[in-house]
Amino acid sequence: MYTTPFLDLPPLLHAAGTVRLPGSKSISNRVLLLAGLAAGTTVVHDLLDSDDTRVMLAALRDLGCDIDSRGDTVRITGLGGRLRNRDARLFLGNAGTAMRPLTAALAVLTATQGGRFELSGVPRMHERPIGDLVDALRQLGCRIDYVGNEGYPPLRLTAGSGSVRTQAPIRVRGDVSSQFLTALLLGLPLVSGIGPVVIEVEGELISKPYVEITLNLLRRFGIAVQRDGWQRFTIAQGSAYVSPGDIHVEGDASSASYFVALGAIAATGQPVRIEGVGLDSIQGDIRFVEAAKAMGADVRSGPGWLEVKRGRWPLAAIELDCNHIPDAAMTLASMALYAEGTTRLTNIASWRVKETDRIAAMAAELRKLGAQVVEGADFIEVSPPARWRAAAIHTYDDHRVAMCFSLAAFNALAGADPAVPVRILDPRCVAKTFPHYFETLFSVVQTATSHVPVLTVDGPSSSGKGTVASAVAQALGYHFLDSGAVYRATALAAMRAGVTPADEARVAAIAASLDLAFEGHSIRLGGEEVADQLRDEAVGAMASKVSALPTVRSALRELQLSFRRIPGLVADGRDMGTVIFPSANLKIFLTASAAKRAERRHKQLISKGIPANIDSLRADLEARDARDQNRAIAPLKPAEDAVLLDNSDQTIDESVNEVLAAWEQRRPF
Ligand code: C5P
Repeated sequence: MYTTPFLDLPPLLHAAGTVRLPGSKSISNRVLLLAGLAAGTTVVHDLLDSDDTRVMLAALRDLGCDIDSRGDTVRITGLGGRLRNRDARLFLGNAGTAMRPLTAALAVLTATQGGRFELSGVPRMHERPIGDLVDALRQLGCRIDYVGNEGYPPLRLTAGSGSVRTQAPIRVRGDVSSQFLTALLLGLPLVSGIGPVVIEVEGELISKPYVEITLNLLRRFGIAVQRDGWQRFTIAQGSAYVSPGDIHVEGDASSASYFVALGAIAATGQPVRIEGVGLDSIQGDIRFVEAAKAMGADVRSGPGWLEVKRGRWPLAAIELDCNHIPDAAMTLASMALYAEGTTRLTNIASWRVKETDRIAAMAAELRKLGAQVVEGADFIEVSPPARWRAAAIHTYDDHRVAMCFSLAAFNALAGADPAVPVRILDPRCVAKTFPHYFETLFSVVQTATSHVPVLTVDGPSSSGKGTVASAVAQALGYHFLDSGAVYRATALAAMRAGVTPADEARVAAIAASLDLAFEGHSIRLGGEEVADQLRDEAVGAMASKVSALPTVRSALRELQLSFRRIPGLVADGRDMGTVIFPSANLKIFLTASAAKRAERRHKQLISKGIPANIDSLRADLEARDARDQNRAIAPLKPAEDAVLLDNSDQTIDESVNEVLAAWEQRRPF
């Protein structure tokens, strides 16, 4: 997961391959709540692991449910309708799918069984309306107080008279959020003991497909709701949640929309295959596929899968009432960037009360790219940019804004010249529903190598370049190449095979067939962890010798070049900026005086309990510098266009910040 302050997407050109979707957020949180209320144990498979499900699981745990999580399978032993813990403060983040149904279920449980609960969330949650639900629950006799602003969380639920009034129909507004009705449908079976419970919807019910998911899952937990049109819902007397035992969560259809769009925009050869959701899905957002087809997507599907390719190009602009696909419709606004003409999405007033005001957010950010946008109370109109601009996209703590705008990186396909990168601010927000969204995206997109940015950090031994380069890579979310480790691994393999540097052909053969794998701090050679061994003085000395052999250097070239992958690379070594990546976007040459470097190396060794002598370390470093600088091939020297940075008197953080500042200057945002 990317937790960097921003993630820069290079211009992207093509898509193909298979993605597996995380579980549906809507299904996951409904299933968790139903399992938490049911008697007995439910095993939930393929559960979404995200911010929203995490807060729901934590809340259920606080309420006394037994929960055992293993990977994406969770066993939950529910309350069976009896409160175990009668006093809790539940923090529900920005998860509407936790706040609303928990409010309903806990309100009727406290009213009938006593207790006191406080439900709160992040500041944005305290701006998302809940008054219509509270009004409905008060009709039953539930005691609910607003702790902050009238009509909004946080809420306090306190004990009532010991019973609730279910004789008259409960009336709830359906035109602000369908989650209020969903919350009542999920929670009110708890009080169906004395008679049927009738819920009547006032106003036109929006987002009906989400209510269908609710009814479908209630059925899986043994509760039949009689539906008369979309106005009246009757929960039968004596309804009780019965655990289905095992239950599987479908892939998230809203998350699928980004990959459907991706296929429509950029899969010109093989399709983008999406696994986890198909046209048989119970999620309303699956109907996004129809809208994508209308814009030009070429879609094939089967049970649990979709395959999408580009059909019509450019895409066709559409005008669409999006009430049935409120979440996925945002993705259409991104597709509109690639359409001929103006796309108009209507009946989307609910966007304004989601994770952020999504109409305002989409309009502001689309405009930054150069698109023309008209927004109204309940619609948005998007015309593609005449001239694309590189933009830093503000994401408003809204996962969907971040995912939608990743699709803007294909601007070259819409004729942007030059193609522009797209900066996604706070990419971590995708964790709400799709923590590994960007990794998944990167696994199915391609671009020209020249579009992938490279930052090189060269310099002599113990200049701190490895530490600085790896910290810079981490700060940017880029890949990291420690080219010294590649030479050290060659040296280690040669030493193990008893081959000396004098036998250049054999060392080169070893280099060419090196089985080396980097992952985080781990380095495996032929499957064996060698990161620590590679730091041995003897291995370093040998590396400095084998690296002077021209055929060894050329044998290792391809391996080093292969590290240049989306979204970008930070490479450190001796010749990164001069030989391997001569066209790097930024080249740093990091130095420090020999005395300083010897001192650092000495400290490092002593701290590891390895005895060392500072003078001999310095002599050794100077000898190695001389060998690196004077060798005929790829000698250590700054590239002509390198930024020289002497870090003798700097801390690592200072050096890292200086490199990041130099990088920022070269970025177009
Ligand atoms: O940077 P490090 O000390 O790990 O590198 C080990 C040796 O590999 C260096 O002494 C240098 O001789 C060689 N090397 C090189 N070119 C690189 C990186 C390292 O010649 N790009």
